[in-house]
Amino acid sequence: RAAATPRYLSGLNPEQREAVETLDGPVLVLAGAGTGKTRVLTTRIAHILSQGRARPGEILSVTFTNKAAREMKHRLGQMLGQAVEGMPWLGTFHSIAGRILRVHAELVQLKSNFTILDVDDQIRLLKQLLQADNIDDKRWPARMLAGLIDGWKNRGLTPAQVPSGEASVFGNGRGGKLYAAYQARLKILNAVDFGDLLLENVRLFREHPDVLRQYQNRFKFILVDEYQDTNVAQYLWLRLLSQAPPSSQAHFPASSPGEDPSPRTAQPKNICCVGDDDQSIYGWRGAEVDNILRFEHDFPGAKVIRLERNYRSTGHILAAASHLIAHNEGRLGKTLRTEDIDGEKVTVTGSWDSEEEARAIGEEIEQLQRAGEKLNEIAILVRASFQMREFEDRFVTLGLPYRVIGGPRFYERAEIRDALAYLRLINSPADDLAFERIVNVPKRGLGDATVQTLHGIARKRQIPLSEAARTVVETDELKPKARGSLRALVESFDRWRVQREAIPHTELAEIVLDESGYTEMWQKDRSADAAGRLENLKELVRSMEEFENLQGFLEHISLVMDRDGGADEDAVSVMTLHSAKGLEFDSVFLPGWEEGLFPHQRALDEQGRSGLEEERRLAHVGLTRARRRAKLYFATNRRIHGSWSTTIPSRFLDELPAENVEITESKGGSGWGGTGGYGPSRFDNIEAFGSSYATPGWQRAQANRGRGGFNETNAPYAASRPKSKYTPLTIEGELVAKSTGTTSEFSLGDRVFHQKFGYGKVARIDGNKLTIAFEKAGDKKVVDSFVKRV
Ligand code: ATP
Ligand code: MG
Repeated sequence: RAAATPRYLSGLNPEQREAVETLDGPVLVLAGAGTGKTRVLTTRIAHILSQGRARPGEILSVTFTNKAAREMKHRLGQMLGQAVEGMPWLGTFHSIAGRILRVHAELVQLKSNFTILDVDDQIRLLKQLLQADNIDDKRWPARMLAGLIDGWKNRGLTPAQVPSGEASVFGNGRGGKLYAAYQARLKILNAVDFGDLLLENVRLFREHPDVLRQYQNRFKFILVDEYQDTNVAQYLWLRLLSQAPPSSQAHFPASSPGEDPSPRTAQPKNICCVGDDDQSIYGWRGAEVDNILRFEHDFPGAKVIRLERNYRSTGHILAAASHLIAHNEGRLGKTLRTEDIDGEKVTVTGSWDSEEEARAIGEEIEQLQRAGEKLNEIAILVRASFQMREFEDRFVTLGLPYRVIGGPRFYERAEIRDALAYLRLINSPADDLAFERIVNVPKRGLGDATVQTLHGIARKRQIPLSEAARTVVETDELKPKARGSLRALVESFDRWRVQREAIPHTELAEIVLDESGYTEMWQKDRSADAAGRLENLKELVRSMEEFENLQGFLEHISLVMDRDGGADEDAVSVMTLHSAKGLEFDSVFLPGWEEGLFPHQRALDEQGRSGLEEERRLAHVGLTRARRRAKLYFATNRRIHGSWSTTIPSRFLDELPAENVEITESKGGSGWGGTGGYGPSRFDNIEAFGSSYATPGWQRAQANRGRGGFNETNAPYAASRPKSKYTPLTIEGELVAKSTGTTSEFSLGDRVFHQKFGYGKVARIDGNKLTIAFEKAGDKKVVDSFVKRV
């Protein structure tokens, strides 16, 4: 050929080149981690554009995250030597489906300015429906229904399509009906939830073949990254879009006009999916690894390309990862090789407890930093988000910049902020933001109307909301129910403030979370993330132990919250293994490799092997993120579900090949000695030092047990402490006096007007509270700022 090879192609190996240059017909790249799948996709777009096969607006390219989309665009610019103008269809499934839906909203009974509901809105709406249907929200929580509906939507099921057996698991057989009612409500509100974006798209395409054809015509090329984690709804959407439209058959015989564009009859067009069955980690969210296995069947004539050379990791890391994943039965199997050096062995480090683990990792990171490594090239990947807290605290202490990816930082999580709001309000009654955050969380019938009333008083009298609350409960401003509920809240805070002086702040926190009903709110919640939130709450209480008192703890929090880790700051990345998919770092730290944490207990409790195998794939994803350094950790003692337990090192550690692993000791001095030889488990020789070594954390834990603060079961700590341990105290003293000290500007006999109760005469003055004989409403106590003299 005359034309020189474009520069962007020259670095590719033959298989990668084939995947890039096979532009016509379906292509599946099925290959392991780090083999260049994402790079192939990016290069393929560059190739399509530079060959003039399509304009940027004619390429549909699906990435796993929005960040990955931006990254891809950036790379494209580098490959082509110029910024790419307009790749409007490069994004996640949700963002692209949302875009299409806006254009055709009317066709699915929406307006183009429809709202996308977040989870909170979704739950609120479902609660209303449950109420309307007289379904006990305690027995059948709205969140559980939300979870079911999400699951159905992931599987592409409309209300009519939900199998009756499944629909009946909720609300004595009313699940399906509620799903339908929910969808109808959404339409009235001109709203969709996340799952609808895909599902409504699929419906749109099915009910309006002309619209579908329009998009089939537009998208000359379709590319999908992380194909192993597509769910059924996404798969259906892709399949519809990837049928060649009847009119534009450059490479396939045209199907007859009017023919249903179903997969078996229409010819699929230029779709390229890349994925790795060994990295399928979203089964719990409805992803179907079968989509990969079905590809050749659903896209007849598909070319399947395998890539075997890993360009990411050094030899030891790759060998360890490959060996580990070989323990899974349900896999296609593949060879991976690297031409890189062996590099450093994978290290396994035992620590006494999670605190020591965080300290050890912090030290190693500082060492790397001193050796000139960039923090951007370092990641900590955790199995469960509660693990992040310890690292965040440690990094703040060390002054090490870090960022949390794929979710809020620990102290910014909703449940943590709620709990902190309670504690802040105890510490500082004037903290109005905290007051507003929790006044109706959990729900106690103190909605917007109450808060508005309180604001009115607070503004006029220039007092904090909590003082306004104290005032208003002495009056008839609020409906009796709200008044009673607000009074109980005011009294609780008074009681907690008194208790604060007498008991450790950790115990106070437990009492507050318990008595406020906050823990219970999440216990009753059956959504997928409720368990994680409860874990986080326990982790919060545990983190308080490290501080002398509540004040000190809250000060620390404000420091942690204050740092805002800008996007371009050189910082360590902290994230869950799930959100690390597709990413790579020079050094990867993997803490918490213990049975029950990783593999997670939920997976171990599951029937069959599939849960465990998904955990192993997750471990494999974690290891394969590392370019040069993979460091695994286990702690001998960890507090999970609120109680300390002696842990067993993860079976995944035993599944690593000895020749690629180096066992090291934690700098904390108590680490696993590695003296036990390779018995049944190389890592279960942990008792040897267990008895002779005790950290303050351990002692504290023992003490906590004595106090009944934590128990051995999975029961949340709230359940383990008798409620009546502390006699509620009535305080009439100082706090109350403070708020009523001011004198009223009214005199007995003044004629006044009140918005709600009308005209009346002042019959009694009690500080700023007036008793008024209203002409129509009778005697009422009101706040003086709510009446006008007339
Ligand atoms: P994962 O399964 O983890 O998503 P992947 O298969 O998508 O991995 P990439 O992220 O595309 O792999 O590539 C891994 C690393 O290898 C990247 O840094 C990439 O730039 C590099 N790489 C890929 N192909 C080549 C090549 N032919 N020459 C040099 N480097 C390459
Ligand atoms: Mg990739």
